[in-house]
Formats: sequence, structure tokens, C-alpha cells
Amino acid sequence: MSDAFDFDLFVIGGGSGGVRAARVAAGEHGARVGLAEDDRYGGTCVIRGCVPKKLMVFASEYAGMPAEAAAYGWDMQVGAFDWTAFRGKMNAELDRLEGVYRKMLAGSGVETFDLRATIKDAHTVALSDGTTKTAKHILIATGGHPVRPDMPNAELGIVSDDIFHLETLPKSILIIGGGYIACEFACILNGLGVEVTQYYRGAQILRGFDDEARGLVSESMCQSGVDLHLGTNILEMEKSGDRIKVKSTNGSELTFEMVMFATGRDPSSANMGLEDVGVSLGRKGQVEVNEYSQTGVPSIYAIGDVTDRVNLTPVAIREGMAFVQTVFAGNPTPVDHDLIASAVFTQPEMGTVGLSEEEAREQEEIEIYATSFKPMQTSFAGKPDRVLMKLVVSKASRVVLGCHIVAPNAGELIQMVGIAVKAGLTKEQFDATCAVHPTMSEELVTMRNPVRTA
Ligand code: NDP
Repeated sequence: MSDAFDFDLFVIGGGSGGVRAARVAAGEHGARVGLAEDDRYGGTCVIRGCVPKKLMVFASEYAGMPAEAAAYGWDMQVGAFDWTAFRGKMNAELDRLEGVYRKMLAGSGVETFDLRATIKDAHTVALSDGTTKTAKHILIATGGHPVRPDMPNAELGIVSDDIFHLETLPKSILIIGGGYIACEFACILNGLGVEVTQYYRGAQILRGFDDEARGLVSESMCQSGVDLHLGTNILEMEKSGDRIKVKSTNGSELTFEMVMFATGRDPSSANMGLEDVGVSLGRKGQVEVNEYSQTGVPSIYAIGDVTDRVNLTPVAIREGMAFVQTVFAGNPTPVDHDLIASAVFTQPEMGTVGLSEEEAREQEEIEIYATSFKPMQTSFAGKPDRVLMKLVVSKASRVVLGCHIVAPNAGELIQMVGIAVKAGLTKEQFDATCAVHPTMSEELVTMRNPVRTA
């Protein structure tokens, strides 16, 4: 690599994508790598997203367990939830993980700068301590951030970043939005004993997911106590003593202890000097890149949420790996964004891969294999919970085009089904697999007849 520059690669952003690219470029390809991060290492996923969220999911799921255990003969008492104790343990875990990220970078020989970086020219970054660094390649991996709607007093509402720092949990909260974050936190906070009201402006939450699957999640959320109002949005909000008064489109005027906006996330690309050096930004501020994550300025690449392609941690990591292959291994590697499995950590969880029934039937003739039933474990305890196992199958090729699961641990299940769907297996190949009994997911290989064709 050229010594004309201070570094072969300078990465801006120490989240999942940036850290992976930096340490693989340095550790496996011997590149001289610098990385700047002005906040905590680990980014959204580790510090204010997936990881603390999942710990909160676990915490919230214990609430229902004593009652369920009683049905199995256990005498268990429900105690109070101690947010302060849990938050302390959660923060200690995040500190540990941040330490792991820092150690991995140092171990790979990456030089880190705990500073904000902006782009000065195609090969130069300016750091907030006034110094500049030159690099043959620059990688932007600055992620995204939650946004509030443009309305008066919106700052009275919190966003997902704030949840993890609350001194105390509110008694009541209004959550605005119907996406991943709104639904996950509605379930978490409901489980932790907060009175949750959720307003979603559309006809059904989790827009874009399979209709039948999101219908069941919505129904289950209502059943477990979330006061979900569809076709409803916030109109005005103002402080009312120590509460927040909210006028909504359904004509109601209610007060809540707290309001949370889960109304989407925007790419973090502002004030970085990107447009000045010729990098194009899209309408939401996303850095525009080609299939190799390269911007219009050949030495500048971007990966992860700042590019607003598929905003998921494992995707950012793969984009980082593909970038390193392309630039440092001489092996141009386009990023494969097809058939990415994902999970929404609602209660029950939803796992999904491939096309929804609605998307697939626009494309070709399909058969739907689906079953919804009360799973053994909770049914025994007299709970009304239902699960859904669903396959969307091409009538012509028999290929399984999509799989949608609503069930406890659907995230774990869809990871495995994702392999089969990604491999392009047919319904008959699913059926050739012997069932594991008694499980919920055995239904995925035992559904004989389609419930409908479309
Ligand atoms: P989403 O884009 O998924 O959802 C935003 C929600 O807010 C939508 O329901 C949208 O409604 C609504 N909304 C947007 N603007 C307004 C407004 N002005 N007034 C009222 N409602 C509004 O964003 P999230 O923040 O939930 O999540 C961001 C991304 O983060 C996800 O897309 C996902 O990629 C990732 N993520 C993944 C997780 C996982 O894998 N489990 C967990 C959390 C996040 P409408 O549908 O009508 O547009």
C-alpha cells in the first residue's frame, strides 16, 4: 500500500459495520487503518439498539412466567420489577461489550481516534482536535439516528435512544409509530408493567410484512394489554403539569406520563462535508453508493444505515466485509441484499424471510401453506396465545418464496429456515425433511395441502 497517505483506510464510525471493516482490513490484509468515533464504540446495535433492547425483551418476558409456571405445579410469587437494578446490570454489560470492541480494534492494529471526523477532500479527513489525516480510501459508517416528526413541542417526547437511560420507568407511555421500534418497545414496556398506548397512523402495524403475520402480532399485542389504536396519529402535544397532554386524530385528548416517538430513523450524514467533496446524498440524507458500496468519489465508500439500504446490523457487517474484499483483497464483491431473514422482537416474535403473500401474488401464481394454533406450552397453562407458521410457494417452480413465523423464539427459527429459503429449496424438499416432534416448527415440513392459491 502507498506511503503517500497516513493510512490505507480511514473509517468514520465505530459501529458494527465500521469496526468489522477496519479490523478485517488491518488484521487480515495488513492495511494501515485509522478509525474515528465521537461517541461510544459499538454503535447503535451495541449501545442503543439491538443488544440493550434484547436484554429488555428478556427482562419483560419474566413477568408472565410465574402464572404460567403455576400451571406446571410451581408455587411462584410475582415480585416487583427493579428497573434501577436491571439498568445497572445492563449498563455494565454494555461497558463490557464496548471494551471488547476497543480491544478487537487495538488487537488488529487499528489506530483509533475518540473524535468527530469530517471529510475535507477525497483523501483527507479533519478531526475535531484540529488535526487532519490522509487516507487512500475513506469509509463512511456513521449509521443513523431516530427522528421526531416536525411538530410543535416534539422535543417533549423521547426517542428510543433515551429509553435505556431513564431514571425511572413511567407509569404510562404513549408510543407513536407502528414499525419495528414502536412495536418492540410497546411489548417490552407492557411486560415491565408500564401502561402502554400506541398510536399508528396506518391500517395495520408493521407495514411491509406479511399481512397475516402482522395481523396476528397486532392481535396478540392487544390481548396482552397494549392499548393499540390503528388509523390514529398525534395532532398536538403540550406539557400539562408533570404529564404530557396529547390531542389525537381520533378526537381524544389524553394525558400521559411520557410520549415516545418511534417514527423512523434517518441516516447520519449531515455536517460531514460530504456534498462539498462531491458525494451525493439522497432525499433522507442517505449516502448514495453502487453495488460495491462506492460513492461517486472513487476513494470514498459507505456502508450500513448511513446508506439506508437494509438497515440491519448483520447487513452492515456483510457490507463491511464485501468492501474489504473489493478494496483490499482484489476481489470485487457486490453486496447481496436478497432474501435477508429478520425478526421483530415483539411478544410473540415475528420471524420473516423472503416475499410476503401480498408481494408474491403480484409476481406469480402462488400456493399458501399456513397453520395457526395454540402451542403446547402456553395452551397447557390456559393461555390464549396462538402461533403462525406460513410458507409462500411458487406454483410453477415449487420454490419456497417466503416464510413467516409468529411464535416464541421466531427469530431463532427463521435463522434456520432462512438457509433453506436462501438456498432456493422447494416445498417438496421441505416435505422430504422428517419432522422433529413435538415442536411448533415441525408444521413447516408437515403442511400437506395449500390453504389457498392466489
Ligand atoms: P420504521 O421505518 O420501521 O417505522 C417507522 C414508523 O413510524 C412507521 O410505522 C411509520 O408509519 C411511522 N411514522 C413515520 N413518520 C411518522 C409521522 N410523522 N407520524 C406518525 N407516524 C410516523 O422505523 P423504526 O424506527 O421502527 O426502525 C428503523 C429501522 O431500524 C427499521 O426499519 C429496521 O431496519 C431497524 N430495526 C430493526 C430491528 C430488528 O431487526 N429487530 C429492531 C429495530 C430497528 P408508516 O408505516 O405509515 O410509514
